[in-house]
Formats: sequence, C-alpha cells, structure tokens
Amino acid sequence: DIALFARHTDYEWEIAPHGAMRVPAVIYADEALIRAMDHKVYEQVCNVATLPGIVKASYAMPDAHWGYGFPIGGVAAFDPDDGGVVSAGGVGFDISCGVRCLHTGLNTEDVMAVQKMLADTLYREIPAGLGSTGAIRLNQSEMDAMLAGGAAWAVKQGHGSAADLDHIEEHGQMRGARPDCVSEHAKKRQRDEMGTLGSGNHYLEVQKVVRVFDTRAAEAFGIRENDVVVSIHCGSRGLGHQIGTEFLKEMVTAASHYGIMLPDRELACAPINSPLGENYLGAMRAAINCALANRQILTHLVREVFSQVIPKARLPLLYDVSHNTCKAEEHVVDGKRRKLYVHRKGATRAFGPGHPDIPDILRAVGQPVLIGGSMGTGSYILVGTKQGEALSFSSACHGAGRAMSRHQAYKTWKGRQVIDELAARGILIRSPSGRGVAEEAPGAYKDVSAVVDAADAAGLARKVARLEPLVCIKG
Ligand code: 5GP
Ligand code: MN
Ligand code: MN
Repeated sequence: DIALFARHTDYEWEIAPHGAMRVPAVIYADEALIRAMDHKVYEQVCNVATLPGIVKASYAMPDAHWGYGFPIGGVAAFDPDDGGVVSAGGVGFDISCGVRCLHTGLNTEDVMAVQKMLADTLYREIPAGLGSTGAIRLNQSEMDAMLAGGAAWAVKQGHGSAADLDHIEEHGQMRGARPDCVSEHAKKRQRDEMGTLGSGNHYLEVQKVVRVFDTRAAEAFGIRENDVVVSIHCGSRGLGHQIGTEFLKEMVTAASHYGIMLPDRELACAPINSPLGENYLGAMRAAINCALANRQILTHLVREVFSQVIPKARLPLLYDVSHNTCKAEEHVVDGKRRKLYVHRKGATRAFGPGHPDIPDILRAVGQPVLIGGSMGTGSYILVGTKQGEALSFSSACHGAGRAMSRHQAYKTWKGRQVIDELAARGILIRSPSGRGVAEEAPGAYKDVSAVVDAADAAGLARKVARLEPLVCIKG
C-alpha cells in the first residue's frame, strides 16, 4: 500500500528499511504511475535492498515493471570493498540491450516521398525476427576479437567509421572483457547472429522530431524540429542470453557458499571480489562488446539502405547507450568518492554536464538519454543532469515500460489490425511476426509522456525532444 511510502517530493517515494533491507528503496514516479505500477515492483525493489554491499538505496525508475529478480527499471550500486555483489539477474538476460540514434540529414518531407520504398528496403536488408541470421560468420578467433573489440572491432572490419566510436559509451569498446569466460555454447549461438535485430521488443525505427523542449541541448545534439532520425534498439542476441542463463545457475549455487541470504533465488549473485563474480564481469563485458558490435553492423546496413533509397542522406551517429549493464563507476556518496558497481537493468545511464565519460563535443551539455516509447506513440531524447548523480547514480528510465504482459497483449490485439490501424495514421510497420506485433501493440505500454515527464520532474534527466514513428521494422 503506497500509504506506507514516505513521499519526499511529488516524484520521489521512499520505503523505509524493514526486515532484511540494508538501505531504503526509492521509487521515482508521479502518484498515478506509482499507483498503476505492478505491485511486484515494490517487493522486488525492497528485495534488492537486502543484498550485501548495496550503497545508499535500491532504486526504481518511473517505467519500472516486474522483472526477473530485479525489477526492469531497477538501479542498484554495490561497493566491492564492503562485500558488494554482482548479479546476473540485476543486469538482465539481454546484456547491453540498448538504443542507438542516427541523424539522417533529412526532413520529414524527404522521407515521406519514399516512405514505402524505404520501409520495404529496410525490411529486406535488416535481418529481423526469432532465429534470424546475418551475412557474417565468425570463426573462433574472429569471435574472440569481436568480444574484446566491440564496435571498434566492427569498424575495423569495415562497418562504419572511426568517427562513430566518439559517440558510443566506452568509446565503442568495453574494457575488461574476457572472451575466455564466455562458454563455447554462448559463442556458438552467436556465430551467425551478428548484424541481426532479434525479435519482439527490438526495433529499427525511422522517426521525425516533432517537438524540441530544450533548444540548447537539441542544438548540441544536432537535432531540430522536422528532422528525421533512425533509432536502433537491440542487444547481444543469443550470446548475452546464454551468458545470463549460465551464470545465473552458477550464482544460485554459489550464494549459499558465500553465505549470502537470498529473499528470492532470482536475485542470485556473487561477491564482486570472487572468482565467480570476476568471471561473470568478464563475460558480461564481452557481451557488452557483442551488443556494441551488433548495433554498429546494423548501422552500416541502415546507411547502405539509405544510400540506395535517398542518396543525399548522411547518417552520422548521435549516440549509443545501453540499458542492461553493470558498470564500475566513480560516484560521490556522503562527500566521499567511491568506486561502485552500478547495475542498471532496463535503466539508462544519464551522466550530467561535465562528466569525463561523455564525448568532448557533448560534454558541456550532458549525455544523451535515448528512450523508446512504442511503435504507435512516440519516443524521447533526454539529457543527463547534475542532480541525477545524487538521485540515482546518474540513471534514468529506458522506455515507457510495459503496462500489460505479452500474453495479455496477444489476447487483446491482432497483429494485422495493429498494422492496419497504424498504416491509416501514416506509420508503416514491417515485421515477420503478427504475434510479435500484437504483443508489442502501443496499448501494451505505459504512457511514455507521463513516464518521461516524471523522470524530468524528478530531476533524473531533462526532456530535449519528442520523436514520432514513420517506419518501424519490428523483430
Ligand atoms: P525493453 O528494453 O525493456 O524491451 O524495451 C525498452 C522500451 O522500448 C519499452 O519500455 C518500450 O517503451 C519501448 N518500445 C518497445 N517497442 C517499441 C517500438 O516498436 N518502438 C518504439 N519507439 N519504442 C518501443
Ligand atoms: Mn533487448
Ligand atoms: Mn532493451
């Protein structure tokens, strides 16, 4: 019952530590969002607060919904010097799933003149759907090079340009990746999945900028109203999923060995300073590189399609940000700078202005925060704030968040009907799966504007621009 929550502001709700909780739980949302939130979120965000070495609080973002162990939209930081843990369920199964946004140099009219051809060509050239394969086959040593090199590897292979790397977290290459910690089975699953979108929630969307809220940040990002951009949402495909599955199993067994009490076995974890914790971090960072390489290869394919359909288009990268990660970062807690391992599961890093990890040309304004909404409503670009550091270890929401389960959505809508209704509104959907489209119907998601307004009002990130879909390739 939310009557038991302490309301710090209209957008920040705290659940005081009780039972085995070591720190409070904090949910950022307005009253309507928090009332509509899956009750499981309250329980899950409190469960996370019981884990060893957690620092300050266990957080849920305004788009939070039920997840495996940790809520989706969950953020938690752990101190390795205080018994802190790393959790496979706290990262999520699609390791480094994320969003990348490309400029096009085009306006809405340029794209609408060839909208259908663009949709059909993208759909033909971008492998999408369950079990889809790409044109690239990796042998063992190439696989290891990809897992160590990320987007930087992909660029060396001819997919895109070195300039792209300046606009990707970690400069396109996650350090500390350990391909030797990734199982043969995980590598095998990935052998022919590079440059594929995957299924379900993943998408490649051509979007128009319908509104700019913050002119200075929009200018720094290089976007204006009526511009067209392309957003790519996907992750580490079969490899990340396999790593998550295997380490989760090992962490369940290991937890009792390390004397960790789990309120829910889905919270399985291992100390950061333990062989298992280190191996997971090494494998997870390799999966981050896999996702970065994957989005880089897809970018190259998108550029080829645009050069065919609209030759004058130019598609430099705006930014690429992951929303399923655990990253070692420095944060100031109670006036002291500490190195913490920040889990963001279905949550976006949102560094404020001046942060050293933001590319030089964007540093003065802050990190772009890329947020999906749905294929029928809208999406947003936000920018990180200075306050975000103290509020949520510089993290914000990652989407609208589901309002209903896939199953419920499938029972409510038909794929064909969703596609036809959107086409009547000028939005072209292309997908190999009618079921997938039904499960992803816009009505299955929360109101992205309400979520983003809550994030903005809470101070987690500031609204920069709203995007609306023109073409969506759904996995
Ligand atoms: P997740 O990573 O949790 O699967 O999805 C992130 C967010 O993407 C969801 O919360 C949802 O708001 C958004 N999303 C899902 N499908 C689409 C789509 O087809 N287009 C857009 N623009 N956003 C979507
Ligand atoms: Mn994903
Ligand atoms: Mn995702």
